[in-house]
Amino acid sequence: SDLRKKRKIAVLGSRSVGKSSLIVRYVEDAFVDAYYPTIENIFQKVITYKGQEYDCDIIDTAGQDEYSILNSKHAIGIHGYVLVYSIASRNSFEMIQTVYDKILNYTGTEHVPCVIVGQKSDLHVQRQVSEADGKALSQQLQCAWIETSARHNANVAKVFELMLSQTEKGLQDGGPE
Ligand code: GDP
Repeated sequence: SDLRKKRKIAVLGSRSVGKSSLIVRYVEDAFVDAYYPTIENIFQKVITYKGQEYDCDIIDTAGQDEYSILNSKHAIGIHGYVLVYSIASRNSFEMIQTVYDKILNYTGTEHVPCVIVGQKSDLHVQRQVSEADGKALSQQLQCAWIETSARHNANVAKVFELMLSQTEKGLQDGGPE
């Protein structure tokens, strides 16, 4: 419908932290326990948030590392970012700050709406990143933060609600329409 607002959300983070699994769980309510490295995929979902329907493009990415260079697909027309690490990988957590800096550098802005996601919260024994560390980073970057498990379907929908709460807050401050 014309009353729907279009929103583009990009999902970034290290390889194999569960970016695709998180999106597929949310959009298709499925979990596939196999590893297919993502090339680049766009998923679509209508999300209702505070009574408003949003036509969302959710852009899955191949994954970033310290050497990867962002491109226009990761920045042009993007309303907000889901930045994913695995709670079982310290390295993937440290990559969040790196990716965030790359986004600001590319977009030339001082802040972008973000949700930081600690994925694979079911991997208790392998945990390398505490909840306190996740929260502290989100406060530093002025983002939302949540831990999820695509495997157990824990907090998955919450990620996208937080994302819209961040983008709609940002738009009041004069972000892209
Ligand atoms: P991506 O490269 O970031 O898109 O990661 P994938 O979604 O392909 O997932 C990488 C691997 O992690 C796969 O083997 C998934 O089955 C596994 N995985 C994804 N999400 C979870 C989760 O919530 N818990 C656990 N234990 N494994 C997960």
